Amino acid sequence: MALLQISEPGMSTAPHEHRLAVGIDLGTTNSLVASVRSGMAETLTDEQGETLLPSVVHYQKDQAVIVGQAALPFRLTDPLNTISSVKRILGRAKHDIKVHECSYSFVQDDQSVPRINTCNGARSAVEISADILTALKQRAEKTLGDELTGAVITVPAYFDDTQRQATKDAAKIAGLNVFRLLNEPTAAAIAYGLDAGAEGVVAVFDLGGGTFDISILKLRKGVFEVIATGGDSALGGDDFDAAISQWITHQLSADQQQDQDLQRQIYIQARGLKQQLTDAEQVELTIQDQQILLTRAQFEQLIEPLIKKSLVSCRRALRDAELSKQDITQVVMVGGSTRVPRVRAAVEEFFERVPHTDIDPDRVVAIGAALQADVLAGNKPGDEMLLLDVIPLSLGIETMGGLVEKIISRNTTIPVARAQEFTTYKDGQTAMRVHVLQGERELVSDCRSLATFDLTQIPPLVAGAAKIKVTFSVDADGLLNVLAEEVNTGVQAKIEVKPSYGLSDSEIESMLKASMEHAKDDMLMRALREEQVDADRVVEALDAALAKDGQQLLSADEMSQIMQAREALVLVRQNSGQPDDIKQAIQHLESVSEEYVARRMNHSVQSMMQGRAVEEFGE
Ligand code: ADP
Ligand code: MG
Repeated sequence: MALLQISEPGMSTAPHEHRLAVGIDLGTTNSLVASVRSGMAETLTDEQGETLLPSVVHYQKDQAVIVGQAALPFRLTDPLNTISSVKRILGRAKHDIKVHECSYSFVQDDQSVPRINTCNGARSAVEISADILTALKQRAEKTLGDELTGAVITVPAYFDDTQRQATKDAAKIAGLNVFRLLNEPTAAAIAYGLDAGAEGVVAVFDLGGGTFDISILKLRKGVFEVIATGGDSALGGDDFDAAISQWITHQLSADQQQDQDLQRQIYIQARGLKQQLTDAEQVELTIQDQQILLTRAQFEQLIEPLIKKSLVSCRRALRDAELSKQDITQVVMVGGSTRVPRVRAAVEEFFERVPHTDIDPDRVVAIGAALQADVLAGNKPGDEMLLLDVIPLSLGIETMGGLVEKIISRNTTIPVARAQEFTTYKDGQTAMRVHVLQGERELVSDCRSLATFDLTQIPPLVAGAAKIKVTFSVDADGLLNVLAEEVNTGVQAKIEVKPSYGLSDSEIESMLKASMEHAKDDMLMRALREEQVDADRVVEALDAALAKDGQQLLSADEMSQIMQAREALVLVRQNSGQPDDIKQAIQHLESVSEEYVARRMNHSVQSMMQGRAVEEFGE
């Protein structure tokens, strides 16, 4: 695959001027801001010395907005005006958000962008994220003592166009100049300075509170290329907590097991026990006078299936990257749950390599983003850090028969531009509808519709003569532009794809799964659709011809023979699920009309000759 290099717009800087730039990890649970000072990247703290800013926003009646630690208590006392985990709904449509994900009061209107009712007015996820970013920006400007030149904001590798665009919009509202968005795993690899190393392949294993991401990065001449991503949007430390609380519940009496309040207490305790077991061999707890001992070995047994699940995703990402475990030269650990010793051991066993764990897994992403921001601010002239990402799902357009023609396939490195030529289907066609789709399946109905636009003013030519070039380009932030152009005339139409909602990790996962499961069916379906389109084309062409000169060129007998073959084809096309049946019927119709076609040719040659003769005489 050709490697496309991103040449970042390095600004010219006066020799001793240091431009203030930050890296921001805009997280689901916690957000952080980091900056390079005196050559070192460090996370910036608030007045209390806290690094992590809980991603929680509380709105008050007097228009006050409280972000972070101070907002936490309001989750219990004023839950409807206290928004947490807003990242889960950022860039997503109302109908995409499941009830259990968000228990806020949504504005009831027919807009697809969800807005939450607060006593401070209706707020979209973009605006709420902007409030978090504003708090981080203020912290940075206060600490650094000046205005920021710009920021690098990290996003999950799985974020689609809309989610990335929403992140940028939030930054804009917060008054931040976004140098670029950066995938979280890439940021982690940068934090470890792996970009300065030799050639190699880096696996970034990110196990947080609620999500798991695995990314495979290829390093070549100081250039990072994200060659595959994978993971599970519902796998993380929360599941470890749940496994522990289930086990504890099993040790209790039937009566105790029925006690909902007790269950809740156990779940809250489980997190602390889990974290203690990272250092301790065993922990003891007392539940209603009952002593319970949980050993690390027992805990490890409980989470083994969860760890296995994460390794399945790793295997799959390797397969996507067309690599084997032996090809991985570095492993980077990200996310609080990678502190669990068994997780580290399992990852080490899997990749047969000791993972990088030196940098605090909570901060590693923000630190990498800060290093990148420093370069982009122009503070390190000559240092060109090139970062390459991939698109998570294939992009294509709808073609005849409700089929999807893929133009850029999944896991292609971005930025990328790919063009493909299409043609008109009907004689004299002067407009073409371009329907942009995302997904792995063959049928339009199984993929996700991103946008539709029309290319008009195509010169009316016979079917197949017009040349329409469709170019897909995905920029460094993963945003898609589609351009359709009629090659002969230069007539153009284009669209920037900003779909009204995005996809979650799990939806991407399930779309991928479906495409694997349905690969065989899809192939049959594609072949069937192709034959159906072919059948329609043949019948349409025949009808047009017959209308013109059928009576003139055919005997009644010949006509009825052709019409019989035509009817047979129409019937098979409607009723048969077998592409071969349709193909045979097409061939049959073609063979019985062979003579007719030949006669038409002669006829048209004759009339052409006559026409020319007349013209020549005229001159
Ligand atoms: P996210 O990226 O989802 O916001 P984090 O990377 O902050 O999550 O990880 C949070 C998870 O890490 C929580 O489940 C937390 O219990 C877990 N965690 C934090 N510290 C430890 C520890 N010392 N041992 C085990 N798990 C830990
Ligand atoms: Mg994280």
